[in-house]
Amino acid sequence: MEEYMNTPWYQRTLRWGQTNITELDVERYDIDWWREHWKLTKVQGVVVNAGGIVAYYPSKYPLHYRAQFLNDRDLYGEINAAAREEGLTVLARMDSNRATEDFFQQHPEWFTRDIDGNPRMQGDRYTACIFSGYYDTFLVDILKEIIDRYEPDGFTDNSWSGMNHSQICYCENCKQSFFDNYGADIPREIDWDDENFKKWIRWNYDRRIDIWALNNQITQTYSGNEDCLWLGMISGSPMTESFRFRDMKGILEQSKIIMLDHQHRPAFGFQSNSHSGKLLHGLMGWDKLIPESMPMYQGRTPSFRLSAKPVAEAQTWMVEGFAGTIQPWWHHIGAYHEDRRQYMTAKPLMEWHAENDKYLINRTPIASVGVVWSHENIDYYGKNTPEKTAVWPHEGMVQALIQGRIPYIPVHADHIERDSDKFSVLILAGMGALSDAQCDSVRKFIAQGGSVIATGETSLYDEWGNRRSDFALSDVLGVHSTGTYEGNTEMAAPTWEIYDHHSYLRLHPQQCEIEYGPKIGMALDGNGVRHEILNGFDSADILPFGGRIENVVVEKSIAAPISFISEFPIFPPEFSWMREMDSGKPCVVLNESEHGGRIVYLAADLDRCFRRDNFPDHGNMLINIIKWAANGTIPIEINGPGLVDCQIYEQDNSLIIHLVNLTGTTQEPLHEIIPVGPFEIRIKYKGKVRSLVNQGALNINEKDGWTSFKIDQLGLHDVLVIE
Ligand SMILES: [Zn+2]
Repeated sequence: MEEYMNTPWYQRTLRWGQTNITELDVERYDIDWWREHWKLTKVQGVVVNAGGIVAYYPSKYPLHYRAQFLNDRDLYGEINAAAREEGLTVLARMDSNRATEDFFQQHPEWFTRDIDGNPRMQGDRYTACIFSGYYDTFLVDILKEIIDRYEPDGFTDNSWSGMNHSQICYCENCKQSFFDNYGADIPREIDWDDENFKKWIRWNYDRRIDIWALNNQITQTYSGNEDCLWLGMISGSPMTESFRFRDMKGILEQSKIIMLDHQHRPAFGFQSNSHSGKLLHGLMGWDKLIPESMPMYQGRTPSFRLSAKPVAEAQTWMVEGFAGTIQPWWHHIGAYHEDRRQYMTAKPLMEWHAENDKYLINRTPIASVGVVWSHENIDYYGKNTPEKTAVWPHEGMVQALIQGRIPYIPVHADHIERDSDKFSVLILAGMGALSDAQCDSVRKFIAQGGSVIATGETSLYDEWGNRRSDFALSDVLGVHSTGTYEGNTEMAAPTWEIYDHHSYLRLHPQQCEIEYGPKIGMALDGNGVRHEILNGFDSADILPFGGRIENVVVEKSIAAPISFISEFPIFPPEFSWMREMDSGKPCVVLNESEHGGRIVYLAADLDRCFRRDNFPDHGNMLINIIKWAANGTIPIEINGPGLVDCQIYEQDNSLIIHLVNLTGTTQEPLHEIIPVGPFEIRIKYKGKVRSLVNQGALNINEKDGWTSFKIDQLGLHDVLVIE
């Protein structure tokens, strides 16, 4: 216990709980019961509402709005004292971005304005401007007051970062400050091609980084305690954080822990949670903790704040977090519930985490593939359509990696060189915006023998989204841009009268006439031997496409086994015949580098298509391409049915394998876990294998440096330790 208490809270607090207090809870917070619940669920830290939009203690500042029924009760103080008696870490929760009419009348200069000078509202509250004294003066006073009274271990703030980039603030302070910095007026509209707008975006990112530093400077120096950290909550989605001007790289590099507010599975699926954990650890280091708010209430569309989230939905999200080295933090809205099922959802996984936590932190991922991302790509390449332009290609590749059970890590574009010894294949999926320096780091990686897969418009723009005359990486990819393309990136239209997605891929050499089916004497091209990226497609000469293909000039290639078939009518069926058998335009260009790596340029956006349309052919083709590029370096083979997210970590003399069962989880919310199995697993590592979920040792076979074993059935998840 002494060693535990001598470790800083941000390194020792592995399980968290949060009862997010509503105004009404002032009259019905059963502290004794929650105290028992903390113990029952093994929490080591709690997040307790203190102030900001609503104060739960009698603040001396009249503009600090008190909870409606608070009067002079000090609810924060009472919960803080109870948690301290239990030896728990306490973070004071702030939520600070809006205020009352009274506040606005006293400080109208601190609030956001639209282009006509009208204040912006959220409900009946006025939205504070992030560049104003509300943040520099008022909130600083509140932080100091809470430190004076309660000495919390730290602070965490829910809505700390002001407005998002869909709204431009025209308050006098913003106008003056932007002019002082850039000698220009605030942009009048969102225009991603306007240099002034791009500066405004960067100015906003920098302000959030400054707020983070300012608040930490206050909490640490005023309290005299360097461990009294201020932590704005962030989400695990780079696109969401781009939208909110939160530079994940700039923020995480300066933080000792992150309080992750990434509560529900997005459209991408449960796998987004393990992905986020790896992406965030890649920025801040694998020795840090990332607790994540995991709601026990139903929080997607539709939301029910007081109803229990279906158990399978809540628990699958939790174990996907564990697989990404995220720590659990249960979260309820309100302190009294009539749907009491929600109190038991987290308990078994909190207990399991407590029993096994030494294997679940302080470990580094084993991967053979790095997938590159950056905010600049989402912002300045994605522009008004960040999701379909910049995010879908990335997520499509990640989905293929998971489906192919190929371990990978997300890599920030500035960290390619830093991380290059961690993988053998680098994937640049839809990375339109890359700086010259980032492109140089790709070249260095290739010079070290690395393999690269680049798709679509990768490297056609600089880091500010300015278009180049050719791919910056044309020298290594072996192709040149013509600046034109076929097809598009939209969802297909619901009517058969529009056939702009009715395009196909042609596989070479053609061989359908040697397969079962009618024969008309169609000529076979080539020698009949297909490239291994076409494995599994023997009976098909064409595959569905429906995406966008870049028209490129090929300078060099060892193979280009897939070409593009232009769209043709769908309806009526009499007209639905191929007008042109083959455009001859290459969909994929394969090369081998002089340094031993393999280079793939994917002109057809199979990555985006797979994320958007979920066709198995697109996923299987991507898996084939990744495996060809990896050239035998993938450290694990898993044979068995279903969709299983596999993450591998190394820790001292142990190897830890997470398997999460995602089979059939496109249903939302998830009703039940469907067990799958058996699985034959083979991994390049030696040692005894045991399951942390079933607590059993497994029979193993060792051969040529590989260890083989079998798992009969996978339910929610399994975690295997080899040591
Ligand atoms: Zn402003």
